[in-house]
Amino acid sequence: MGNRAFNFNAGPAALPLEVLEQAQEQFVEYKGAGMSLMEMSHRGAIYEGVHQEAEQLLRELMGIPDNYKVLFLQGGASTQFAMVPMNLLQPGKVASYVATGSWAAKAISEAKLFGETQIAASSEADKFMRIPSASELNVPAEAAYLHLTSNETIEGTQWAEYPDTGLVPLVGDMSSDILCRPLNVSQFGLIYAGAQKNLGPSGVTIAVIREDLIGTPSMPVPTMLRYSTHAKNDSLYNTPPTFAIYMTNLVLNWVKAQGGTAAVEKINLEKASLLYDTIDASNGFFRGCAQEGSRSIMNVTFRLPSEELEKLFVKESEAEGFVGLKGHRSVGGLRASIYNAVPRSSVQALAGFMNEFQRRHG
Ligand code: PMP
Repeated sequence: MGNRAFNFNAGPAALPLEVLEQAQEQFVEYKGAGMSLMEMSHRGAIYEGVHQEAEQLLRELMGIPDNYKVLFLQGGASTQFAMVPMNLLQPGKVASYVATGSWAAKAISEAKLFGETQIAASSEADKFMRIPSASELNVPAEAAYLHLTSNETIEGTQWAEYPDTGLVPLVGDMSSDILCRPLNVSQFGLIYAGAQKNLGPSGVTIAVIREDLIGTPSMPVPTMLRYSTHAKNDSLYNTPPTFAIYMTNLVLNWVKAQGGTAAVEKINLEKASLLYDTIDASNGFFRGCAQEGSRSIMNVTFRLPSEELEKLFVKESEAEGFVGLKGHRSVGGLRASIYNAVPRSSVQALAGFMNEFQRRHG
């Protein structure tokens, strides 16, 4: 297949070409069934097989213990910002958050709708260009949970190591780095992620929740927004986003074929190093936004000496087949999103373009 763009979109983002081709081949007629998977009942054996395989593969790839449920939800990670406090916040408890940037801020403002919130640590004084260290965290004993954003997609920062919160359940928004590296799921009470970066297309949101946290919410919560509804019904309480889950299943099979999360992490580290090394070797022409130690291996954010040069960088890169390099409108600058499915060759091409751009304009 010719002419694939060098796709650095932040999400929805690049999917593995093999996955797209497989979906294309199965699109009109799924495995001799006389119809597309999208035309099938979600209660039928064929769809249920896909649904169960996706769950099993995610369990296998993430090493999810048996006392956790895997849920396929809708409404994006943004709906999880509300579902987390609605389901986990109890009277007399506070919802504790680490303020690391744009997405954490959205989670916090949503939690405020449902009860008392507390900021365990914030990197706002450093313009959110770093992840607070574990020793900075102040988690109150009466915290219902501690919420962190594993990877700040906009600022380009990522937790290198997760804090030990003892008995306080740790909740992680892993929308932009789920499956990018091996993970000890048992450190978390709840993990959630919109699929559209590392898992598949938009339309499905994954939640992995420890069973003891599923109970009955202490406030009135609509049926669809209760974790228990989906947990009791294997995410088939209502019609799930069948096509998005099917695509996610193909991506999970692809991750497994790559050798799982350890193999994927190795490639991700190589890709990220290629770009950070290019930035660091540019004598200050390119400036990485995130502080050392907090740099994301998924979203590489950087600046040029002037906004004019940044605009020119975007323009010239687009002319050469690069897509999605403009930074988020709220922070400006540039951003290369290099999720699992972004091939090494695209990143090599970008590093080459960056060097060439500096040679011309530096
Ligand atoms: N959290 C993070 C870290 C994100 O990157 C995003 C989306 N870019 C969201 C939450 C919101 O996800 P959604 O669009 O699926 O609601």
